[in-house]
Amino acid sequence: MSLSLFFTEEHEMLRRSVREFAEKELAPHAEEWDETGFPDWVFTRLGELGYLGLHYPEEYGGGGGDYFTNIVLAEELSRCGSGSVNMAVAVQVGMATPPVLAFGTEEQKQKYLVPAIKGEKIACLGITEPNAGSDVASLTTFAEKVPGGWKVNGNKIFITNGVRAHFMTLVARTEKTKGYKGMSLFLVDTDTPGFVVSRKLDKVGMKASDTAEIFFEDMVIPDDALLGDEGRGFYNIMWELQGERLIGSAAAIGGARLCLEQLLEYTKEREQFGKPLCRNQAIAHRIADLATKIEAAEALNYICAWKYDNGEYPVKEISMAKLFAAQVSCEVADEAMQFMGGYGYMMEYPAQRAWRDSRLMRIGGGTDEIMREIIATTMGLYAKG
Ligand SMILES: Cc1cc2nc3c(=O)[nH]c(=O)nc-3n(C[C@H](O)[C@H](O)[C@H](O)COP(=O)(O)OP(=O)(O)OC[C@H]3O[C@@H](n4cnc5c(N)ncnc54)[C@H](O)[C@@H]3O)c2cc1C
Repeated sequence: MSLSLFFTEEHEMLRRSVREFAEKELAPHAEEWDETGFPDWVFTRLGELGYLGLHYPEEYGGGGGDYFTNIVLAEELSRCGSGSVNMAVAVQVGMATPPVLAFGTEEQKQKYLVPAIKGEKIACLGITEPNAGSDVASLTTFAEKVPGGWKVNGNKIFITNGVRAHFMTLVARTEKTKGYKGMSLFLVDTDTPGFVVSRKLDKVGMKASDTAEIFFEDMVIPDDALLGDEGRGFYNIMWELQGERLIGSAAAIGGARLCLEQLLEYTKEREQFGKPLCRNQAIAHRIADLATKIEAAEALNYICAWKYDNGEYPVKEISMAKLFAAQVSCEVADEAMQFMGGYGYMMEYPAQRAWRDSRLMRIGGGTDEIMREIIATTMGLYAKG
């Protein structure tokens, strides 16, 4: 994309570098990593290149960039063709570590943020529980105050990077009151006794990333594991979720762009009935629709990112952007498979991976239905009187 309202020449240089890295060093492994999982060196290499701290302050080893540097990273990492790598990096950069910068003490920043930016420590984010998914406020993992620290018992599920992570940004209840009150954030080293990875979960897509179920069994963590103010966990994690959704949308849109490019190439080359597939109006018009939707999803995401970067908290618009980007990415992947016919359905073509990976976008980081619920609520549709 050319320079725009949102991007400077520096952003575009970054875009070219990330794209080159993704295409040369990652894309050749996309197929293999679907079988084996992607290796940890991806984090170290990203750290060396400075990509894990683009928007973090230079004093912590970051690049001191704005929020759009992260958007560029998420969009361009998609060029590796593995949604898994992009998701794992997004968890590290845009989900598990922003609360450390925003709410952490200097010691916590030195212990967790600095090595995370270098790619020496891998992070995960522990919100979802078996009985508390969309309804975050109903989570029950409990951190009981004990002398010198906290004793944690409970269970998290679907945790990206959970098998390999060195630390978790954990949301737990610190008061037995119900609902959003009495929740707090903690930073937990995953080698703490009682931190038990019980299962590596098998998934439909995003197969190169690791997804864990985790139990906390009388896990004792020190007083200084508390991240931010006690009792503010719900509010702080809701703030984090807004950034997570913008990054998720950028990754979804980047993936959709790549998928559309591959579809264009295929339909220009493949001939049936004596002409390339793309010269059938039924196909050409559908591709035009998909290209239009990608542009619209991208524009909405950029506007939200700009507002967010300028200190606004546009929850309704971010929910709209996330909802739309997720749906567009699934639609593009589905149509790419359709217009590639039987070849699209074969494992040797990348369309199937995009189709499987993109499906998560409508579930993870808040489902389509929850995005609609937030939009409807903020529109005042449920207000009484
Ligand atoms: C691959 C993967 C990676 C993930 N990574 C992480 C991670 O790193 N950290 C983490 O904490 N979580 C992670 N998640 C969890 C993810 O955020 C949740 O799966 C998601 O929020 C939905 O929760 P749930 O699966 O419990 O579904 P549920 O909440 O049980 O929802 C089931 C269905 O009911 C619908 N529904 C629920 N409530 C309502 C309502 N009020 N109105 C209408 N419809 C409703 C939902 O939209 C959905 O369609 C991950 C999930 C997956 C699959």
